[in-house]
Amino acid sequence: MKKQYLISPGPTPVPEEALLEMAKAIMHHRTPRFSEIFAECAEGLKKLYKTSQQALMLASSGTGAMEAAIVNLFSPGETVLVVNAGKFGERWGKISETFGLKVEWLNIPWGQAVTPEAVAEALQRNPKIAGILAQGSETSTTVAHPIMELARLTQGKDTLIIVDGITSVGVVDMPMDEWGIDVLLTGSQKALMLPPGLAFIALSEKAWGKSKTVKQPKFYFDLARELKNQKEKTTAYTPAVSLICGLRVILQMLFAEGLENTYKRHDILAKSVRAGTAALGLAPLAPHSPANSATGVFVPDGVDGGKLVKDLRDNYGVTFAGGQDDLKGKIIRIAHLGYFDSFDMITAISAIEMALAKHGHAVRMGEGVAAAQKVLNTRYI
Ligand SMILES: *Cc1c(COP(=O)(O)O)cnc(C)c1O
Repeated sequence: MKKQYLISPGPTPVPEEALLEMAKAIMHHRTPRFSEIFAECAEGLKKLYKTSQQALMLASSGTGAMEAAIVNLFSPGETVLVVNAGKFGERWGKISETFGLKVEWLNIPWGQAVTPEAVAEALQRNPKIAGILAQGSETSTTVAHPIMELARLTQGKDTLIIVDGITSVGVVDMPMDEWGIDVLLTGSQKALMLPPGLAFIALSEKAWGKSKTVKQPKFYFDLARELKNQKEKTTAYTPAVSLICGLRVILQMLFAEGLENTYKRHDILAKSVRAGTAALGLAPLAPHSPANSATGVFVPDGVDGGKLVKDLRDNYGVTFAGGQDDLKGKIIRIAHLGYFDSFDMITAISAIEMALAKHGHAVRMGEGVAAAQKVLNTRYI
């Protein structure tokens, strides 16, 4: 037997309370009982998003909500500005091109965040930009983008700000209405501590207005049809019944913790991992604008990051994420979003110390753990 620890930025561990709820016998979705659960989830999502708008539930992975945003908000030939700071920024661009949009790529070196100045300049250079597409947290590089500032650039203008919040909703406060975010979307398998399969998307009044003018083929992801149904406590097609039952439990857990405490927990777990990895001499991938969802660090010279991550998974039983594309084999990403607490971070740092020692890097065992402990203990004293 080997106990498995999942410390990757999606899918993330699912709390037992939700697992047991989802193990119950399936119920029919056109029933008063399910409508009641659905309505509770819809109310909870509004609270999480801090919006007066309906947050729609879609049976898809997070990328489905990204596609839904594009097909509902832009006609072929319209121009969008893509903040491309990693794999998920790139995905915004690829989806946009698939649906005939013109993409202005704002390419940011991996590990860095976009600056509001660069976006303002791009908007000035090209007044045709109809939307800004960005990530709250670019999970591939563990960077956080300044969403509040980006949203401010679109106020009073027709330009829409569309935010992939898949690793920021439930991690950091992202009040949709207050900041003036036009589209905020997320998925079930990251901070929301559920299995993959649900996506969530809310549109501002401005975005709903724009959507009425859009000429773009769509069927499954027709959000106007979903809105009509979901206002009536149901979905256009069969919902992911079990996942929605699990969502109800997750939302109850988050509100019992208190969202502000949820954000504080994520912040201190992130700080403990940054301290622990720094004590091991591991250089951060995103030193200037690190996300609270996950921490990426470079593996030391002479260590094969791919082999390290694989060994950690297969022999130690601890699953982290490695790097993609140019970062393949060079980094390790430690997650701290969702169902994580202090001692998960101790496990993470401890496992990395042990594996680094095995893979020929001189570490003093316990130094990383001690640094993380110091940060974490401030929660209890
Ligand atoms: C995981 C992730 C996605 C993709 O979500 P899927 O559920 O795999 O479709 C998109 N954006 C970000 C920022 C993510 O972390």
